[in-house]
Amino acid sequence: MLFSTFDLADRSVEELLADRRLLGNAAADEHGVPVDGRLAELEDLRAVGYRDLVLGRLIEGHGNAIALVSRCGTERQRTTANGEAAAGVLFGVWNTAPPDGVRIVAAGDAWLELGGRKTFCSGAGTVARALITARDPNGASQMLLVPMERVPVRIDRDSWDPLGMRESDSFAVDFTGVRLGSDAVIGDVGDYDRQPWFAAGAARFVAVQAGGVARLADELAAFAVRRSTGEDAVQMTRLGECVVAAHTAAQWVRACAEAWSAWDVDPAAESERRLRTTVDAARYAIERAALDVLERVERAVGARGLLAPEPFAAFVRDLRMYLRQPAPDLAISRVGRDAFEHACAE
Ligand SMILES: Cc1cc2nc3c(=O)[nH]c(=O)nc-3n(C[C@H](O)[C@H](O)[C@H](O)COP(=O)(O)OP(=O)(O)OC[C@H]3O[C@@H](n4cnc5c(N)ncnc54)[C@H](O)[C@@H]3O)c2cc1C
Repeated sequence: MLFSTFDLADRSVEELLADRRLLGNAAADEHGVPVDGRLAELEDLRAVGYRDLVLGRLIEGHGNAIALVSRCGTERQRTTANGEAAAGVLFGVWNTAPPDGVRIVAAGDAWLELGGRKTFCSGAGTVARALITARDPNGASQMLLVPMERVPVRIDRDSWDPLGMRESDSFAVDFTGVRLGSDAVIGDVGDYDRQPWFAAGAARFVAVQAGGVARLADELAAFAVRRSTGEDAVQMTRLGECVVAAHTAAQWVRACAEAWSAWDVDPAAESERRLRTTVDAARYAIERAALDVLERVERAVGARGLLAPEPFAAFVRDLRMYLRQPAPDLAISRVGRDAFEHACAE
């Protein structure tokens, strides 16, 4: 395989999730920077996405949670979270909310009570530490770390009947009546959305998606061998286009890591601008690369190739679903706006 860099292939998703190394890899310092560096984090996510997009989604959320707790939480919260991750405890971030989203409905000196639901809660039922956002009485967003095994939530499994990514179990979860101690509060109101971390964090799903694109390119090459289509110029052209798209996606992942590392070292306005523009551009570039590859793969393998036991149908569905991330149009329009403002200033 051209792009497989990790020894993940022979193990089930459950085994991989139970692998402490995979979860412990997310360890972060007090700035939320992965201890192995940005490039290692994103390359790991690309490799995991190559293996399985559902696993990638869970590991991506886990890394985001550890980074948020490490950067915004107290020293004690950071040490505990990193220790738990190293011991194999799975974290997740559940921010997406329906109109009846989670809010803090009552609070005392050292406790608070929640009402409302979260939707798209990936790994609900498996995630042990859910970093959720809740509206306070002023409407501001507050992060809370919920120990899922200790609170009585209602998981609505019927809420998740998706095109793909079914096994991500991204159910709606009702937190009404949940009481938490004040040690569940992570950081200050507004910390979750704080920039440039919020926009830059999209680099994680970009990396997982890039892994998915590479996997499809490799699977198409293997399919061409199985079906002996090597003499067909059209099939070889399609395959070539997929290989180039996968390489392009990988380059964008590296560009994100580079821009983020540069900002970590020197958080000046110019490096922030570069970081945000690079990640916004990467989101668009990976989406384009993935949609191009999906179309070519569907044409190349045909209806018979989209039947089990060929691997394509499941992967195509998962990637199409996982590509749908928040406000994609806003991200690419920011790239245009940045170029426009740059031109105005010249
Ligand atoms: C498999 C999967 C797992 C997920 N897991 C999680 C999770 O664990 N935790 C979590 O918090 N979230 C999760 N999400 C949710 C995800 O982060 C996004 O919030 C969600 O996918 C966005 O949904 P949407 O495409 O309907 O969003 P939207 O952002 O609403 O996009 C839909 C369309 O509307 C457009 N649009 C949006 N706003 C405007 C506007 N103001 N004006 C004009 N056009 C607009 C967009 O550009 C886009 O074209 C998951 C999503 C998926 C697919």
